[in-house]
Amino acid sequence: MRHPKSVELLNRAIQEEETALHQYMYFHFVLDDMGYEGLANIFKRIAIEEMKHVEAFAERILFLGGEVELGKLAKPVEKIREPIEMLKWAMASESEAIELYSKWAVEVIKERDIGTEQLFKKVAMDEERHYEIFEREFFNLQKFGDQYLAQQAMERSRRIGSQPLGGEEK
Ligand code: FE
Ligand code: FE
Repeated sequence: MRHPKSVELLNRAIQEEETALHQYMYFHFVLDDMGYEGLANIFKRIAIEEMKHVEAFAERILFLGGEVELGKLAKPVEKIREPIEMLKWAMASESEAIELYSKWAVEVIKERDIGTEQLFKKVAMDEERHYEIFEREFFNLQKFGDQYLAQQAMERSRRIGSQPLGGEEK
């Protein structure tokens, strides 16, 4: 196995990603159940991107000849049902990931593992984009309050109401 330190950090990154993935899926289900389609879809799409991060980190571990540790969460899924609290969780999680991956990029380059360094940098940039998306939603929700979510629920009702009967809801 090459670069054991990198393999260890990549496995820790997988834990971070899996934690975010599960929590965002939870937010997606709950928001969708409340009818807040726009925000629910944002969490779903970003959860899919976190899954792709798991995949990219796993591929790198296998390339280095290491073993992938899957199914471990850094912390249990929190049963948060307030949209504003969900966005706070997401922003904190993305900031933490940006911080960790930036730190780890520096650590692995000390071992001259440029491939893993590149990967940490690339994923950190994705997390910056995620942060920006969540921050915009957070500001919108603060600015427009419940109106912002009510609008999303109305759009969903209008869309479902215009579909033929007996069709798939989603
Ligand atoms: Fe990620
Ligand atoms: Fe992210």
